[in-house]
Amino acid sequence: SASIIDGKAIAARIHAELRQRSASFFQAHGRSPGLAVVLVGDDPASTVYVKKKRDACAAVGIRSFSTSLPATCPPQELLEQIARLNEDNAVDGILIQLPLPPQFDTEQIIEAISVTKDVDGFHPYNIGRLALRAPLLRSCTPAGIMTLLAETGISPKGMEAVIVGASNIVGRPMALELLLAGATVTVCHRFTQDLEAHVRRAQLLVAAVGKPGLIRGEWIRPGAVVIDVGINRLPDGRLSGDVDFAGASARAAWITPVPGGVGPLTVATLLSNTLDAAERRVGAAHV
Ligand code: NAD
Repeated sequence: SASIIDGKAIAARIHAELRQRSASFFQAHGRSPGLAVVLVGDDPASTVYVKKKRDACAAVGIRSFSTSLPATCPPQELLEQIARLNEDNAVDGILIQLPLPPQFDTEQIIEAISVTKDVDGFHPYNIGRLALRAPLLRSCTPAGIMTLLAETGISPKGMEAVIVGASNIVGRPMALELLLAGATVTVCHRFTQDLEAHVRRAQLLVAAVGKPGLIRGEWIRPGAVVIDVGINRLPDGRLSGDVDFAGASARAAWITPVPGGVGPLTVATLLSNTLDAAERRVGAAHV
């Protein structure tokens, strides 16, 4: 049966490194690296994610700046807040918690963030850098998955990789990451005709849909690496991924649990992007 990829333990190791990097940054520059976290509205899941990110900042010595705007906030106000944060020298990274209320044009908001402070890695410039094999700030969940694989000793080079889900924040940048790492990549989505046939070929499977049990255990190729990004709240209150965990564990070589798999690496990568952005900004200030 499959070995578990312990995202929590791997994230804890990364946090320890980040604490040291933050301390060195403080010694060299007389301030902590700073992350601005902006929440619009009071979506319960978003509120939980924002708190997790701020707590994680505190734990590694990153100063977090918090902005809460009402759900009814006019887009212009958020754009003005982003402009202020772009100019603020204490702020190295800017995170706008998604999803935004319906009056916002998410693309317009993301594009307003300075590319040097885009620690979520969602700006078209940063996605473009990744697409052209020269990543700078990389989208947190896909980059976090690459770290999970590397820390587990799994190289995607030459692997038959199948991604289920093609969103801007997970599936698409995941495809670019795996392509950059030398995998042969298939991306499945809601219009894919025979999902089972694609999944059965996967040596490396990344499921990022948001539908519990979508990926059946018997579809898993024996010996596969299974990365489950889905976070679904079941009727009984438990969390589940998109993959039938028990069934998949019987066939896979490696599998991530939900919770405790990919999620902790998303947060760790956000922190590490903030340190990268901070170090790059002070480096640029010297030239
Ligand atoms: P999304 O809704 O933006 O995208 C879902 C994708 O799944 C779409 O590309 C869609 O075409 C595809 N899809 C829908 N039904 C399908 C089907 N039957 N077969 C194949 N593909 C299908 O979602 P998202 O923002 O990418 O998030 C996906 C899941 O990952 C959610 O459960 C979300 O909560 C979770 N998530 C987890 C983390 C983490 O850190 N662990 C981060 C981001 C998202």
